[in-house]
Amino acid sequence: MFDCTVVGAGLAGSEAALTLAEAGVKVRLIDGKPRFKSPAHSSDNFCELVCSNSQKSNDRLTAHGLLKEELRVLGSHVIAEAEKCAVPAGSALAVDRVLFAKSVTEKLRSNKNIETVCERTEKLPEGPTVLATGPLTLSPLDGEIKQLFGSLHFYDAEAPIVSAESIDKENAYFAARYGKGEESDYLNCPLTKEEYDAFYDELVRADRADLHEFEKGEIFEGCMPVEVMAKRGKDALRFGPMKPVGLADPRTGKRAYAVLQLRKENAAGDMYNLVGFQTNLKMSEQKRVFGLIPALKNAEYMRYGVMHRNSFVNAPSSLDGHFRSLVRSDLFVAGQLGGVEGYVESIATGKIAALGMIRTLQGKTLIPLPETTMIGALAAYISTPNDDFQPMNANYGLLPPITPHIKDKRQRKEALYERAIEAIKKYSENISWK
Ligand SMILES: Cc1cc2nc3c(=O)[nH]c(=O)nc-3n(C[C@H](O)[C@H](O)[C@H](O)COP(=O)(O)OP(=O)(O)OC[C@H]3O[C@@H](n4cnc5c(N)ncnc54)[C@H](O)[C@@H]3O)c2cc1C
Repeated sequence: MFDCTVVGAGLAGSEAALTLAEAGVKVRLIDGKPRFKSPAHSSDNFCELVCSNSQKSNDRLTAHGLLKEELRVLGSHVIAEAEKCAVPAGSALAVDRVLFAKSVTEKLRSNKNIETVCERTEKLPEGPTVLATGPLTLSPLDGEIKQLFGSLHFYDAEAPIVSAESIDKENAYFAARYGKGEESDYLNCPLTKEEYDAFYDELVRADRADLHEFEKGEIFEGCMPVEVMAKRGKDALRFGPMKPVGLADPRTGKRAYAVLQLRKENAAGDMYNLVGFQTNLKMSEQKRVFGLIPALKNAEYMRYGVMHRNSFVNAPSSLDGHFRSLVRSDLFVAGQLGGVEGYVESIATGKIAALGMIRTLQGKTLIPLPETTMIGALAAYISTPNDDFQPMNANYGLLPPITPHIKDKRQRKEALYERAIEAIKKYSENISWK
């Protein structure tokens, strides 16, 4: 017997299931894995990071630093596992994705309150349910979600990964931008003006994979393919993913004209991700064009970049500020499907949906989330009327301003941070089973 079903054991569903189980709720956790997977999922384990291995900054004055700190206050299980599987990445929380997925899966499977079921859910389950099937929800469930919630979609892109040994180290150097963090975390690939010009010219005219579907969709700004960004102007990449500032070559002390950063993809350090180089170029074109960057001239691709569909529900017209359905009070929608964007945001909504579900099962009213917290601000964003709704990343702009206004940016963020942490601590004290 179970009290609640969680559909989808990704970032949101794993956090939700572990939180519910911690409160003594008997959970049935359904996931298509290992038998049914989306084109972007390849691991048989749950909680798979499908693209970057980074859960973004830990710096408390960044939006993701604050969001993670709030999750720590709320006792996030998934963030705790991520910390155990961290790989060096300067001030970011990056993980060994294989270890991370394995350790969360073990936690879920060994929990006596969680029963895991391998099934591709085709219809929304009846009874208390947390729906967390993510941006690549398997059919035909996506059709039913569309009917109930009016789902929307856009397209997203992944960066390629190359093997460490194939990178030409004569043309690369280790350094952290402005010396922040461990220098060994990032391998930098410098280009002279001539090299950049040649690379740029080929990039903007390279062949893209079939764009028939994508042309109709909108490309999300936060995950824009590098070739699309390049078309915005010759220097767009030099102010974006190829910016050379703060990355002087330690061997010469000089700054390059442009720099591509590579970030360690796993703890062993034998794979590197091309930071910010999400792409929809044909695979042969990725090898040819990225090979014009001197350090990558013989690069071996462990994974080519790709673009995918990315679905989410029309949250402002279908969910409340607890990620709960407006038409079914025992149904919560967590993760990317619920209208947030990003790994940490998905974990956060899994936590909030589970906390809401626990109170629902206890027959209690839900406790409003403080909007001065990053989690509360995201919840407010998704549930506020919006004719042009798009999923949202955590960002300081979502937080209500401090009054009176603090002019100094750093001091202002300090004040916003302190206010948010104080509010989430108060909220956490009301979590009833603790
Ligand atoms: C291609 C791509 C790349 C991304 N890259 C990044 C990135 O680099 N950084 C970042 O912060 N965010 C990224 N995102 C956005 C988002 O943060 C991730 O998709 C994140 O994994 C979402 O978490 P989730 O729990 O909502 O869904 P997921 O982690 O995708 O989990 C959903 C789970 O549901 C299961 N499932 C799906 N349908 C069914 C069904 N019908 N029945 C049973 N089980 C089902 C799946 O097997 C999966 O385990 C990316 C998204 C996509 C699509």
